[in-house]
Amino acid sequence: MDNSDNKIRNFCIIAHIDHGKSTLADRLLEITGTVSKREMREQILDQMDLEQERGITIKLTPARMEWRGYELNLIDTPGHVDFNYEVSRSLAAVEGALLLVDATQGVQAQTIGNLYLALEQNLTIIPVVNKIDLPAARVEEVSQEIIGLMGCKKEDIYLASGKTGEGVTEILEAIIKKVPSPTVRVGAPLRALIFDSKYDDYRGVVAYVRIIDGQVKKGDKIFMIGAESESEVLEVGFFNPKMQEKKDLLAGEIGYVVTGLKNIAKCRVGDTITLAGSGARPLTGYKAVKPMVFAGIFAKEGHEYNDLREALLKLKLNDAALTFEPERSVALGFGFRVGLLGLLHLEIVQERLRREYGLDLIVTVPSVAYKIYRNNNEETIIKSPQDLPDPNLIKKIEEPWVATDIVTPEGYIGNVMQLVQEKRGVYKNTEYLFSKGNVEKRAILHYDLPLSAILVDFYDNLKSVTSGYASLNYEFLDYREAEVERLDILVAQEPVEALSSIVYKDAAQYVGRRVVESLKKTLPRQMFEVKIQAAIGSKIIASEKIPAMRKDVLAKMSGGDATRKSKLLEKQKKGKKKMAKLGKVDIPPEAFLAVLKK
Ligand code: GDP
Ligand code: MG
Repeated sequence: MDNSDNKIRNFCIIAHIDHGKSTLADRLLEITGTVSKREMREQILDQMDLEQERGITIKLTPARMEWRGYELNLIDTPGHVDFNYEVSRSLAAVEGALLLVDATQGVQAQTIGNLYLALEQNLTIIPVVNKIDLPAARVEEVSQEIIGLMGCKKEDIYLASGKTGEGVTEILEAIIKKVPSPTVRVGAPLRALIFDSKYDDYRGVVAYVRIIDGQVKKGDKIFMIGAESESEVLEVGFFNPKMQEKKDLLAGEIGYVVTGLKNIAKCRVGDTITLAGSGARPLTGYKAVKPMVFAGIFAKEGHEYNDLREALLKLKLNDAALTFEPERSVALGFGFRVGLLGLLHLEIVQERLRREYGLDLIVTVPSVAYKIYRNNNEETIIKSPQDLPDPNLIKKIEEPWVATDIVTPEGYIGNVMQLVQEKRGVYKNTEYLFSKGNVEKRAILHYDLPLSAILVDFYDNLKSVTSGYASLNYEFLDYREAEVERLDILVAQEPVEALSSIVYKDAAQYVGRRVVESLKKTLPRQMFEVKIQAAIGSKIIASEKIPAMRKDVLAKMSGGDATRKSKLLEKQKKGKKKMAKLGKVDIPPEAFLAVLKK
């Protein structure tokens, strides 16, 4: 039996980065009285310090509002492409989506990307032109772009300002009117989709759920279908946006289940929770994520290996796109090869490990994965430059490519094309955003590009050749042949594993030179002369020297106690010897970045 008109509405807010999702969420929480004026602060759903400091949303965040007799569950989502998995998981938990478009920016690459994700899930989309309070707002043009994109009518588009609150009540009314209420099968056994989770030191895994069928309450014996694990529910509740206990969670609702599970592997995002013995079939779950970049992460102190492992396991609960496997390195000892969705993701993971788990880390130069075809027809995927076999054993190597959408004003198309071609891009086609009356036409360029080309500074370059106007979205496409080899870096005659990278053969010389030069600038001077070399195999292709620093130990001494002076000099010499023998140069984190920015 279907109950097609209950009073629940579930929706998420999607948009290009910075188009005002979290700020609109603030107003929704305020107008519905969910958060009092006193408790309110800007972007309240950006709960992590890291999100507040950087002004970006990293995590999806659910919040429940009660308004005019309705229960409205919203999920705020990140806009950056590296956190796309947060968006797709949010979309699977709701029936509708608010699609915001900044009235001064118009439709951008992630507007389109996220719209398609929402359409794939058959969600009801409510388009909103946001930030209409800004003097530079171009409401009419941006509305036309949305109409061109979605094929909707003008009156379907809502106009709002998350800053002033104008038009926000109308959005709430539209959600109630247009977003379908969840289909609720009365009497069916519990099935709850886990769309996110976190670890509570005292109460174990907390699963963020959308209840699809049935109901769940404290004391229930639950069964995680995929993980085949059981536990007893310690508490259920909803997000207010803080966790708020409730007697039970019913079909159609979004909330949390405190599982008490201390073994993190027993409760996975994407799994289905049911009642023990119900025999219910699992829900579809999510597409597995494909990590795009890999980096080695090692604890600076070897004995912290287990802490690092524990931290990664817990972090993975809260970051479902994170993957990792153990790795052993000659120089760095035991650590993990971590798979991520991009460099911003890597930066955030690193920072969270430092802040939330107090770990001191060494992170190697990130790399994409390569497919290796050996002469003996063996096929492997390598995720670290160290795993690249001897060139004599290799028939061919393939690298990952992505399909990119670049949205740019027409006047910059030439610049963009030049940049993309330098990066080995393959042109596909150009579309135009619908632009009746637009000051300047805007194009969507479709290119295929090697993933490695866009990882590092592509986005910055794109911004700079378009005066900041272009935006970028991409998704994994396939593997294609690449002429690459490993570039090693030697510091004081010792290869520094963490600085190795895989480079195009025709660019190796150039990259080697650049890396060596930038290391010369970033490495601190030592008591001895330090040679920095770039090598392909045993061949040195670039070399620089950092001259020794002679600590002027005598300067402080005035006058002449000769014996004291010579003693000091003797001491200094010894120190020199020891360091030279160890050959250890502490490599500061900037040095790794220097290698990347080639
Ligand atoms: P998000 O990345 O989509 O979550 O965007 P945020 O909500 O974090 O907002 C990005 C920036 O735009 C912040 O500096 C906000 O203060 C600003 N902003 C958001 N909404 C509005 C609006 O309606 N009007 C104006 N003038 N600024 C806004
Ligand atoms: Mg945000």
